[in-house]
Amino acid sequence: MNIEAILENVVKTIRSIPAKLSGDDSPLGDPWEEIKDQAQHEMSFSWPAYLETMKGIIEGTVDSLSQDDRTFIAAEMNVPPDNLERLRQGILKRLIAKAKREKIRYAPFHFEYFRYSLEDMTVYAEVLQRTGLFTCEIMAYSGAAPSGERGEVNTDIIEATMPADEFEQARQRHWPDSWERSRTTPPTAQRPAAEFTGDQGRHQPSAMMNDSTISVSGCDHCCPPSADAAWAARARLKHTAELIDESHYHVTMLACQQCGQQFLSVFTEMIDWSAGDDAQYWTLMPVTEGEAADLARRGHELTEAEIGSLGVGRQSLFRDYPSGKEPSVHWGTGTAVGPHD
Ligand SMILES: [Zn+2]
Repeated sequence: MNIEAILENVVKTIRSIPAKLSGDDSPLGDPWEEIKDQAQHEMSFSWPAYLETMKGIIEGTVDSLSQDDRTFIAAEMNVPPDNLERLRQGILKRLIAKAKREKIRYAPFHFEYFRYSLEDMTVYAEVLQRTGLFTCEIMAYSGAAPSGERGEVNTDIIEATMPADEFEQARQRHWPDSWERSRTTPPTAQRPAAEFTGDQGRHQPSAMMNDSTISVSGCDHCCPPSADAAWAARARLKHTAELIDESHYHVTMLACQQCGQQFLSVFTEMIDWSAGDDAQYWTLMPVTEGEAADLARRGHELTEAEIGSLGVGRQSLFRDYPSGKEPSVHWGTGTAVGPHD
């Protein structure tokens, strides 16, 4: 057995750990990918935990080596064979060096096409491969570059993701400077409001926004027409990220398990010290992929003003439960950070 084989064994053991410190929905496939991400980018608060894990596994591996193997590896690393501490440290150093140079494998994004704006132009992008948590290599098509240009971009430029057929439509229309979903149906924003409460086809995607610049859409699992139904649907959304977690102020990201549409959820609470009837407020607003990526990256650094300025004019769901009153669920616009302790 040589040092390379030892490292292979250690990596194999790390990969087999079922828990992921960065969360179950992390785009990093297993703990070794997480370690690589940490070693190559920013080391997070969870790095000490990874380090302890690596040390533990290395210790177990070194302990189980035969005397011959230990002597051989010690010679390979130029440390005295009876100094186990230096042997372990040497292996750890090489393991971290390996984590630094090995290419990270990310789980692919759940979209393949998107569009973004450049000057006055719409650019249509096909994802070639994910290169980071928030970056990808793309082929970018536009009126100015109809045969495509290869490049790497950050996901925060994404204005809207596109289904494959819509991307094909854009190609057939020679990458128009401004994108309208379809020529035959008017943009959602111009539809009469009555249509939101009307009888929509079961599988027809329903729109939930009314600002025309950003496209956010859900399906009828997550965005039913009535506010009460939308509130009920909120319970079925999957919790994807915790941005702010204070006792009376929670900001979380939720996602539809059917269509993947992401939502920003803000919850605030005012303690009613006299009657014990705490006032509670919720806001739920759909966000774009780009916004979601941006929010996740900022996390607890987000200020209330920033959250409040997101999606101005976009349809969102409110639930107010003031002290001593009945709760009310209603449509509103944008996000609001309610009063909280
Ligand atoms: Zn949905």
